[in-house]
Amino acid sequence: MKRIFAYEKNAYLTELKTEVVQAGSEKGKHFVVLRDTVFYPEGGGQPCDQGLINDVPVSSVRQENGKVHHYVERPLERGPALAVIDWSRRYDHMQQHTAQHLLTALAQDRFGWSTTAFHLGVEVSDIELDAALLSPADLDSLEEAIASEIRAARKVQTQRISPARLEKMNVRTRGLPAGHQGQVRLVDIEGIDLNTCGGTHVSSTAEIEAVKLLSTECMRGGTRLYFVAGKRVRRRLAEHEARNVELRSLLGAPERDFAAAARLRLEQIQELQHRERAFRDELAEAASEAMAHRPEDILDAHFRSGDPAFLQSLAHRLQEKVRTKAALLTAGSEGEGYFVVVAGDRVSCDVQALGRQVAILLKGKGGGTGRIFQGRVNTLAKRKDALALFQLELERD
Ligand SMILES: [Zn+2]
Repeated sequence: MKRIFAYEKNAYLTELKTEVVQAGSEKGKHFVVLRDTVFYPEGGGQPCDQGLINDVPVSSVRQENGKVHHYVERPLERGPALAVIDWSRRYDHMQQHTAQHLLTALAQDRFGWSTTAFHLGVEVSDIELDAALLSPADLDSLEEAIASEIRAARKVQTQRISPARLEKMNVRTRGLPAGHQGQVRLVDIEGIDLNTCGGTHVSSTAEIEAVKLLSTECMRGGTRLYFVAGKRVRRRLAEHEARNVELRSLLGAPERDFAAAARLRLEQIQELQHRERAFRDELAEAASEAMAHRPEDILDAHFRSGDPAFLQSLAHRLQEKVRTKAALLTAGSEGEGYFVVVAGDRVSCDVQALGRQVAILLKGKGGGTGRIFQGRVNTLAKRKDALALFQLELERD
């Protein structure tokens, strides 16, 4: 005979004086079994409860071979226990879960869409429907039908019946779990739905407060429908409002113009990036031309507002223009600097080895191939010393 736990008899029970009858550990996690429990173990799409047993936090709860394992953060002794659930978490689950029953029942009865799965998420929940396409108009009318049943404050009750009686009744069920024995628990939303379910529910559809359908997603020939219910509707609206206030001030536009204002900014950024790239190449060309005409064998230049892309562009141009010279190019400032070591193909010099030495000297790192080595550095204070390394490297050969 299947045990009937306190959370099944009364979903509104928030604490229970009971007893730890078994204490153990499983894969390094401590757990206890209670004589009876108010903790709902995960199942049927509904996450488990959390809370305290004798002031020790319970992080998860699972059914294992007919027993309810409460995974606790610290070991607990056998003996008297006070089990207290996190009620706001549980009540939220009751609202989402009962909303799912209502959603499933109305989707089936009004539209002929069957629910094939339910997932109660941390932020939003979803059901999977065996319908390929849900039009916005259908979704609107489904949402309206749900609102109407919430306003009707229909009673939600549970009862237990024998499997034999179940077969004769018109019950919405996705089948009993494999190996099910004994009586079957039914959840009844007065006049709307009769369903096999072991979860926890609010006692009237009025307690669902509201259901907002959010979006749909195609999946394997069906559709996943996302929704929020209960306090989550208000919380989500509050988050949207806070974000809108921030966006109004950032974009300097009223809400209805957010998308247009953001699109305009993105277009402006793209235009600026395009111009910056063109200007960077023009500058690199002019700088390489000027450097190529300098008499010394070791060239160097620093660009305070330069970036790695500019240094690369300049290095490639120098490599082509002055095949008999090497150069140290740097950009940026203290704390955020960049460098490139480059040498023409007629310079006898191990560019990669020289680059690694420069990186160490300037407290940075980098890499490269062939005649170019680039890196990021923390300081440019020893730039002169880096140039001396060039001298040594060129004299060595
Ligand atoms: Zn249920």
